[in-house]
Amino acid sequence: MKNVAVLGATGSIGRSAAAVIATNPERFRLYAAAAQSSGDELVKQCAALKPAVVALADEKAARGTEKNLPAGVRMLAGAEALVEIATLPEVDTVLCAVTGTGALRAVVAALRAGKRVALASKEVMVMAGDIVTAIPTGEIVPVDSEHSGIFQCLAGRDKSEISRVTLTASGGPFLNWSKERIAGAVCSDALKHPVWSMGIKTTVDSATLMNKALELIEAQHLFKLRPEQLEVLIHPQATVHALVELCDGSVIAQLANPDMRIAIQYALSYPERPAQRQAGSVDLVKLGKLEFSAPDETRFPALAIGRKAMERGGAAGAVLNAADEAAVGRFVSGGIALPRIWELVEGALEHCINFDDGTLESRFAADAAARRYVMEQTT
Ligand code: MG
Repeated sequence: MKNVAVLGATGSIGRSAAAVIATNPERFRLYAAAAQSSGDELVKQCAALKPAVVALADEKAARGTEKNLPAGVRMLAGAEALVEIATLPEVDTVLCAVTGTGALRAVVAALRAGKRVALASKEVMVMAGDIVTAIPTGEIVPVDSEHSGIFQCLAGRDKSEISRVTLTASGGPFLNWSKERIAGAVCSDALKHPVWSMGIKTTVDSATLMNKALELIEAQHLFKLRPEQLEVLIHPQATVHALVELCDGSVIAQLANPDMRIAIQYALSYPERPAQRQAGSVDLVKLGKLEFSAPDETRFPALAIGRKAMERGGAAGAVLNAADEAAVGRFVSGGIALPRIWELVEGALEHCINFDDGTLESRFAADAAARRYVMEQTT
């Protein structure tokens, strides 16, 4: 029985994690759950899964929620609660699905405390993958579906056998839109994702392909690959999540229905694999065809921007991540057109390359500089 702490319990990944835990009561216990401010959803999870500890980062929301919790549940509040939950001695595995710098601090603390981190927050790897993977204690198992796929394809294989790793991208809602039409896209267009159901930020990132740029950097650090070993293929059926080409030309692919519960369950149970289908089985006859194409980098410049950040290394990932988050925020509120997201991220990479000394603090400084840059350019 493993005690699991879920950071970001009320978001899309957090709710899927609750479902996985509920269907594996003999394997996992939800020991602790943390959210930003959604007290009502947290109370619901308490009734169903009875965690010992819960936390809300928003202190006002925490005060309003405390009285609705079942007796005996300990409540923590404030921004530091994430680190506290991630390092509770009773916790074996920390599922990290929160955004922002809080995720990075919590993951570092969890690893230093020797925990397994089931990592859904790709920004942790993008901002500081080199720092995080150098921590000698604990272990990271990816939850991002493509990275879970790569992880499964690589299992037990010597690194010298790996020649190329391919992440797939569904292509998002603008896959067949012209450049001119994309330029006029509004937020509700970007949120019509054809396959995956995700939070707003990730859905917009999927529409711009910036999600795949972030995932390239994430894969570079997680699996210690060179930038030129990584590739992206458009695959609208989102059934093949990753392909690993070996040195003799053989290709190992991972297929699964597009449902995050599969990757979450594997990250929690690895190296075991519960005989528990979270999302049925892959029906290739029903799918009929699996299509692949090269991404169109003229209409979607995100991958080239991601590659630039990969090659630069250091704080470039932190700059890309923060500039994108700020730019997506401006797009969602109607302040900028969609192609401005790419321009702002590229501009931030040119203007915000700060002193990087390989510490978390220098990455936070790069993050802040990129957010300032986007703010200055859009007001
Ligand atoms: Mg993904």
